[in-house]
Amino acid sequence: MKILLVTAHPDDEAIWGAASLSALAQRGLIDVHVICLWTACEPMGSISGTLDKKTDYLRESHFYSSVKVLGFSDSFIATESYPEKLSTETLGLALKQGLKELGKKLNDFDIIVSHSYYGDERRHPHHIKLFNLISELTKSTDIGHSFFSFIPIKTLGHRPVSNSIKRAGKFQLIGEFLCHPEGEIKENFSQFCQQGKVKMFICQGDLETKRKAIKEYKTIDLIKHDNDYGSFTSSTDFLYCDYKSSAIIDKFFSLDKNFQIPTYLTNEM
Ligand SMILES: [Zn+2]
Repeated sequence: MKILLVTAHPDDEAIWGAASLSALAQRGLIDVHVICLWTACEPMGSISGTLDKKTDYLRESHFYSSVKVLGFSDSFIATESYPEKLSTETLGLALKQGLKELGKKLNDFDIIVSHSYYGDERRHPHHIKLFNLISELTKSTDIGHSFFSFIPIKTLGHRPVSNSIKRAGKFQLIGEFLCHPEGEIKENFSQFCQQGKVKMFICQGDLETKRKAIKEYKTIDLIKHDNDYGSFTSSTDFLYCDYKSSAIIDKFFSLDKNFQIPTYLTNEM
């Protein structure tokens, strides 16, 4: 399964979904490429939680080290100075440049993983913009769109559909849920939910490697981030999938022989 992870800031790849993706990538079960649209979102030096703002440019090399630790295949980070930050044009341009550098096209990937539609734990507006971009780019294609959420989404009903856990090494698939909108869905999320079944997978991954990757960011104030975010110290990820990526991931988990089902577990209770 070929996955393109599109992020806004250097360190996002080591936080959101990192434990799960890394655990699968390290065993060669998935192929993950990362494109970080950093300077298409903000100029270097914008981050508030750094030890030394002057050396923020070092996050470019920290990004490449982190990707290596996580076991991802290839990566690109935008570092050129884009005059108009965050516009759809600029983000699209930086993504195109990233794909070119990686020698890839968008449809070389089965699934694109973006930030969540609400911007993740701190509702970051750059994260929201990137979700919207990927939602638009995958709309009329066969490419699936997924995102990791730190908590289950309250405006969706979740019906459990799995009857066991599955595991491969440090990765555990703890639950699968069929989701349907309950209550008001945010406008930018409706496209994701509209076209068919949305599924959510509770994944548990490799926290040790995730922490190692985060620690590659030597200019980040890790104590502050550990205090301010739950996701920095968590190995659990809630993976939401649109109808296209649901079908791809269902197939992946059911056909890949690397996943073991412990015999002592059953949901027939
Ligand atoms: Zn970010």
